[in-house]
Amino acid sequence: MSPIGHHATDNRIYLSSPHMGELEQSYIHEAFESNWIAPLGPHVDAFEREFCEAVGSPHGAALSSGTAALHLGLRLVGVGPGDDVLVSTFTFAASVYPIRYLGANPVFIDSERASWNMDPELLAETLEAHARRGRLPKAVVVVHLYGQSADLDPIIEACERYNVPLVEDAAEALGATYKGRTPGTLGQVGIFSFNGNKIITTSGGGMLISRSAALIEHARKLATQARDDAPHYEHSEIGYNYRLSNVLAGIGRGQLRVLDERVDARRRNFGFYQSELEGVSGIEFMPEAAYGRHSRWLTTLTIEPEAFGAGREEVRLALAAENIEARPLWKPMHLQPVFAGAETAGGGVAEHLFARGLCLPSGSNLRESDLERVVKVIGTMARSV
Ligand SMILES: *Cc1c(COP(=O)(O)O)cnc(C)c1O
Repeated sequence: MSPIGHHATDNRIYLSSPHMGELEQSYIHEAFESNWIAPLGPHVDAFEREFCEAVGSPHGAALSSGTAALHLGLRLVGVGPGDDVLVSTFTFAASVYPIRYLGANPVFIDSERASWNMDPELLAETLEAHARRGRLPKAVVVVHLYGQSADLDPIIEACERYNVPLVEDAAEALGATYKGRTPGTLGQVGIFSFNGNKIITTSGGGMLISRSAALIEHARKLATQARDDAPHYEHSEIGYNYRLSNVLAGIGRGQLRVLDERVDARRRNFGFYQSELEGVSGIEFMPEAAYGRHSRWLTTLTIEPEAFGAGREEVRLALAAENIEARPLWKPMHLQPVFAGAETAGGGVAEHLFARGLCLPSGSNLRESDLERVVKVIGTMARSV
């Protein structure tokens, strides 16, 4: 990770840097004034309430990270040692680590080209194959990448057919929609991240949401060292220290107020890149599926070397030479040394995207002159416009 804290006078252009609104500091000040400098407090309660209202979920627990939220979510839908969990291969490693924390085995599912997210047909086939073997997975983790929802209806249908809980990793998808609803709210549990580079940030933090009040109550208990209801310290299960600080929840409340503006700004970035680079042969942007709104958390594209005149790495290095941060798309999990040997369904689509894909600077605080600098580097490398 490159440092993301910086001054506005830097001429470096970051991939996605924190962008504070007007209210965050006053909420932090309130936390100091009332001495709620703790992993609980009024900002935590209010942030949970306001976040749930914003995404349309009845219950949520604010946690120290998206990874912690996924760990608790998987445990609470019943994943344990030796179980299989189906998960998108085209994602960030944090979608998969918590499966291993619980001693379970990831089974990787490839993406579809239309949304770059989990292929619903391949998921259904893999569930069927597992059912025939008498070895159904304990959960499916679907990831909504780069600000776009996966095609949830057929994914939910496949999970319901085999009675397998669906866990939604919506860490990158806050602000996106699926048929008018919020991805993350449609499975048994959903998780969000407020890490420094996400669309809104608390510097670090996450949220676990569910329609089940009991599940979220249990998550809060496990996240605070699993204290039983007793005057002394009594424990009957293994807990974690996963609650979000009241100070950071204050930042989250301020950030939530500007979420819509942040989505608009990121979609504007995408619109600029698209209008400037649309005609360039060999460049294709991540498609926006017809079923929803893409938040364009990151603007991502693929580069066909023959048609464009240069490969993805050449473009990335040319941008780096101009002090512009761009990154390859996620390296698929089935190619990661740490998951070598894991069962994988397909993989070719994710491999294709990784070989050609690039994330462009996408922060909601970028100026048009920043975007122009990026476009200029790419434009001068193109064979034909
Ligand atoms: C960022 C991210 C996570 C992890 O969230 P943290 O808050 O950083 O722990 C999980 N999954 C995906 C897809 C992410 O992008």
